Amino acid sequence: ALLASAREGLVITRFGQHADVEDPETGIIHRCNLRRSIQSLVSGDRVVWRPGVEALQGIAGVVEAVHERESMLTRPDYYDGVKAVAANVNRIIIVSSVLPELSLNIIDRYLIAAETVGVEPLIVLNKVDLLSPEARTDVEKQLSLYEEIGYQIRYVSTTTGEGMATLRDDLKDHISIFAGQSGVGKSSMVNALMPEVDADIGDVSETSGLGQHTTTAARLYHFPDGGDLIDSPGVREFGLWHLEPEQVTEAFIEFRDYLGGCKFRDCKHGDDPGCLIREAVEDGKIRRERYESYHRIIDSMSENVANRQFSR
Ligand code: GDP
Repeated sequence: ALLASAREGLVITRFGQHADVEDPETGIIHRCNLRRSIQSLVSGDRVVWRPGVEALQGIAGVVEAVHERESMLTRPDYYDGVKAVAANVNRIIIVSSVLPELSLNIIDRYLIAAETVGVEPLIVLNKVDLLSPEARTDVEKQLSLYEEIGYQIRYVSTTTGEGMATLRDDLKDHISIFAGQSGVGKSSMVNALMPEVDADIGDVSETSGLGQHTTTAARLYHFPDGGDLIDSPGVREFGLWHLEPEQVTEAFIEFRDYLGGCKFRDCKHGDDPGCLIREAVEDGKIRRERYESYHRIIDSMSENVANRQFSR
C-alpha cells in the first residue's frame, strides 16, 4: 500500500496512548496513535505524524517523532519521579492580585520557578479596579523593585478591561501558561481573552492517597489575536513544586553578580562573615525585601523537608 507522506503537527492534548495533533497548515485536529518509541508527548510538542491509510475507530494517523523542545515544564510524579506537563512554553504569566492580599513572597516563588525552567516571566497584577488612586501608587511603588531588576509588570482588570489590550499584545508570538494562587483571577482572565472557550477549569481536581492531585490533561488553545495558551489545573499550579535550595539562590537574578565571591564556600548568605550578598543589601544594591523573601523561602524549604521526614 502507498504510505501517506509525513506531516508537521502541533500537539493540542495528549491522553494515554493517543494525542490530538493539529495540522498547522489546515488547522484541522487529527486524533493519532503514538509510535511505541515515543517516550513522552505533551501539549505544545511539535511532531512529525503520518496520516493513516484507513481511518480506524476515528484514529487519523500516527505520531512518529517529536521535535527538540525549547522548554519543558514538569511536575513531581509518584511513579516516574517527574512528569512532563507542557512543551515549548516561552512565557509564564505570573498572575497576582490585591485580593487575596498582594504577596511579594508568592510572586518571588513563581519567579524562581520561571527562572529555573528558563522561561521568561511576566508579572500581571489583576483587579486594579479595587484600588484607590493612593493605593494604586503604593502598590506600583512596592512592585517597582521587580522592574529595577529587569522584570516586566502589567496592571490589569478583567472586570473593567483596563490593561487587557496590552496583555493581548504580550501574548502574541508566545506559548504562555498562567500561574498564580487561587482567587487571583486566572479563570476570569482566560475567559476574557478567549470568550469562546469554557475556561473554567481551575476547580477540577482529584484526591488520591498522596494528597490532592490535579489530573486533567493540559490542552493548548489559540488566542484569537495570536499566541497560544497551555492550560490545565495542574499547569496553573506550576511553581509550587519542589526545588533545591541552590536553584532558589540561582533564581534570584540580582544575586548572580555576587555569587561565588563570599568568604565561605558554603555561605548561607545570612549572618556568615564575608557574605557579599548581605553586604550588597547593606550597600543598597540588593533590595532588602527580596533578601528577606529569599530567606523566608529557604527557611520554609527546610521546614518542609523536616516535616516530610517526620511524617514517614
Ligand atoms: P482563579 O482562582 O485565579 O481562577 O480566580 P477567578 O477567575 O475564579 O476569580 C476569583 C474572583 O475574583 C472571582 O470572584 C472573580 O469574579 C474576581 N475577579 C477576577 N478578576 C477581577 C477583577 O479584575 N476585578 C475584581 N474586582 N474582581 C475580579
